[in-house]
Amino acid sequence: MTYNAVLLAWERLVSMTVRTRIAPSPTGDPHVGTAYIALFNLCFAKQHGGQFILRIEDTDQLRSTAKSEQMIYDSLRWLGLDWDEGPDKGGDFGPYRQSERGDIYQQYAQQLIDQGHAFKCYRTPKELDELRAEIKADGENRALKPFDLLLSEAEQQQRVNDGQPFVVRMKVPESGTCVVNDLLRGDIELDWSMVDAQILLKSDGMPTYHLANVVDDHLMQISHVLRGEEWINSAPKHQLLYQYFDWPMPQLCHLPLLRNPDKSKLSKRKNPTSILYYQRMGYLAEAVVNYLARMGWSMPDEREKFSLDDMLTAFDIQRVSLGGPIFDLDKLNWLNGLWIRESLTTEQLADQLTAWALNRDNLLAVLPQVQARMDTLSDFIPKTAFLVSGQLTITETDFTALKLDTNEQVKILQFCLWRFENLNDWQRDALFAELSGLAEAFELKLKDFLAPLFIAVAGTTASFSVMDAMALLGSDMTRARLRYAIEVLGGVSKKQMKALERAYRCLNLGQ
Ligand code: GLU
Repeated sequence: MTYNAVLLAWERLVSMTVRTRIAPSPTGDPHVGTAYIALFNLCFAKQHGGQFILRIEDTDQLRSTAKSEQMIYDSLRWLGLDWDEGPDKGGDFGPYRQSERGDIYQQYAQQLIDQGHAFKCYRTPKELDELRAEIKADGENRALKPFDLLLSEAEQQQRVNDGQPFVVRMKVPESGTCVVNDLLRGDIELDWSMVDAQILLKSDGMPTYHLANVVDDHLMQISHVLRGEEWINSAPKHQLLYQYFDWPMPQLCHLPLLRNPDKSKLSKRKNPTSILYYQRMGYLAEAVVNYLARMGWSMPDEREKFSLDDMLTAFDIQRVSLGGPIFDLDKLNWLNGLWIRESLTTEQLADQLTAWALNRDNLLAVLPQVQARMDTLSDFIPKTAFLVSGQLTITETDFTALKLDTNEQVKILQFCLWRFENLNDWQRDALFAELSGLAEAFELKLKDFLAPLFIAVAGTTASFSVMDAMALLGSDMTRARLRYAIEVLGGVSKKQMKALERAYRCLNLGQ
């Protein structure tokens, strides 16, 4: 960092109230990455006596759900990462849910149009594809720029008169370098030629992430934006929007991405990413927070095991190291073991177990599945143990008694995995519809089709309905078990995977 940048960052800190935020989109299960970013935002704000805000970015109306929003609240609270202002708590800068702020974005988009910083673009998706193809054919490697998108005045007027759909795009420079300052990385240089004339308002009138995010960060007086590294490429657009509006820009700070063991970005294809999975696996909230803190951050004395309070006391953002932290389950297991053995009294462990699974709500959810199969109370634990197990102890021989051969079973498990990745409505009926559809596509009786799933999910075919079991286990735990079963069956080579992908596409299952 240059001397001036240090001075600027320091001046910001002494002169203003620090306000940080997380801004998750409520689509799907709550992600460990959200908790990780929340943790650092919380620590940074508290270290400076500031506030930490939760904003819900639900402008993607098709994918956002109230259930997902609720799960964000529940999982962050479970981890103890509480916020000062948010949709459920209120505050002086609300509403904190973007879907309730539509008029505000319209107003600011109009201001940009009036000032000549943005324009209405009537180009159709087909035209955009053609324009991109032309740029490529000319041997150019650059983004779509305002001048590419211009229509003749007559054509523009015609489309306006016809009431054709339009989007609002921002003007961006054609070339040159954009310098963005980052609290950890110093000045980052990005190339304007690769930055599109970004859409700010979609044709349905909803804002894109970029407009809504900048407007809200300003109006909510966010002083520091600590977010994932994947947003670095958005920074030039955001900086330009702040300049267009003539607003001071918050200090940006891009935290290192969590990665799979193969260094790729942590993804639910390879690792469980839902916070609920870690809760269901029986990790302690304290250990998960400790583990997330260790992703890219260390205590001044380098000790591995520490609490959120310890971290709040010792926090220093400069101790974040930028190398991509690997999400390593063995390490998490080890740390969790320390917490269970060293930090809990027997009484506390009993309380943890009760809160985790042996509580009335859980019993009431599970009992309808097993009551009809019970003669004695002692039947309960053996019949439901698989619901509270981490990974099952299954072997290849568990699958050999089934009617289908190994290849067919692997195919079923893999196809189910792919289908489940995009199944947001994780309910018994939705699972039933999904699996019956697949069984039909395989031209198999449902019973035969489900048999390998029974082994993968429950460890036996003699269990209660596998769809109910999956609904109780949740998406991430179910998928982790399917992945493990595939491994137990010998795994899938690269070549086999290609063949499976082809066969999957041919099934033409639709969305
Ligand atoms: N809505 C974005 C997300 O889902 C927020 C990114 C940001 O923090 O600016 O991660």
